[in-house]
Amino acid sequence: MSEAAKISSALLSFLFVFIGAGLIVQAKPGVKKDSFGKTADGKSVEIYTLKNSQGAEAKIITYGGTMVSLKVPDKNGKFGDVVLGYDSVADYEKNAFYMGALIGRYGNRIAKGKFSLGGREYKLAINNGENHLHGGLKGFDKVVWTAKSSTDKNGANLQLTYFSRDGEEGYPGNLLIKVVYSLIENNELKIVYSATTDKETIVNFTLHPYFNLAGAGNGDILNHQLQINSDRFTPVGDGGSIPTGELRIVKGTPFDFTRTTKIGARIEHDDAQLKFGSGYDHNFVLNKTRNSLMLAAKVYEPISGRVLEVFTTEPGLQFYSANFLDDTITGKGGKIYRRRYGFCLEAQHFPDSPNKPKFPSTVLNPGQKYLQTTIYKFSTR
Ligand code: BGC
Repeated sequence: MSEAAKISSALLSFLFVFIGAGLIVQAKPGVKKDSFGKTADGKSVEIYTLKNSQGAEAKIITYGGTMVSLKVPDKNGKFGDVVLGYDSVADYEKNAFYMGALIGRYGNRIAKGKFSLGGREYKLAINNGENHLHGGLKGFDKVVWTAKSSTDKNGANLQLTYFSRDGEEGYPGNLLIKVVYSLIENNELKIVYSATTDKETIVNFTLHPYFNLAGAGNGDILNHQLQINSDRFTPVGDGGSIPTGELRIVKGTPFDFTRTTKIGARIEHDDAQLKFGSGYDHNFVLNKTRNSLMLAAKVYEPISGRVLEVFTTEPGLQFYSANFLDDTITGKGGKIYRRRYGFCLEAQHFPDSPNKPKFPSTVLNPGQKYLQTTIYKFSTR
């Protein structure tokens, strides 16, 4: 080998080692923090990018603790963003669809915005027909959370905290809420919620991502195949979507997802419940043999080969087929989100539980700790 060849071969090996080291560094779980702009009233909003060692990536903003994007691989290893969202804080401030946001204090509906606790009646905002929805006019989806990030060998974490004062949006008790998002190995996005109060109150937290496993903005979700681990659902009384209190058997109805079925297979059936929700917008009673983390639902999208499994400690799962999205929504990268371009699987307690004594209780007392774990796990087939 000539001297020149020796030098260039040494240089090449050096380059390979350098690039190799770079790749190893990149393959470690990590968190990056950037600015995402300001709210209309001048509060700074940060965006955190969480990565695991397999290259999956979740972006979460401090406004509403909102997940703005989630990139996971398809069956060919190509990464794609599987949640709907917007590009700016201003769009999220207008976010009438709760896209990707953390929801509280009470996710879902409370009839006529009223409930009684400890012999007192409480009144909440009426922001959905004649009912209360997703925490009120300024729920947890519209406040700026305090963030702290960390990494460990299992992945990248973002801890969000919010102090909701006594009387905020009409709810009793000072409530301290902590939500930890973790993007861990096996492409699992884990969300752990905890809360304490100084006065008897009600809580029902959830996360509101609209998934499309074929990629955000790439068509409707009617060909996604869904399985829900549930033999019963909570039928609603009318288009206001308040449960009647019945836990109705799904068997023989378009709500039977005990076997994997296309979301679109029965969505237009002549069924009173589907008409009330303009499609699926119902709470499923999860089959639970224990109160711990259990598989709640599984979704498969045949073109991308992506599979989503939802695990939760919660008793219910709201399956919403994005019936109310309309053609006026411009999402990330200018993509238009039309009706049924996403689906939501929101782990939670049953709607209107504070007024339904037979439903599992959503009361939190001083000295108790609220705890929820929900996992969205991605794989391919
Ligand atoms: C509810 C829908 C509602 C949507 C708002 C869902 O959790 O079930 O009825 O329209 O949230 O984004």
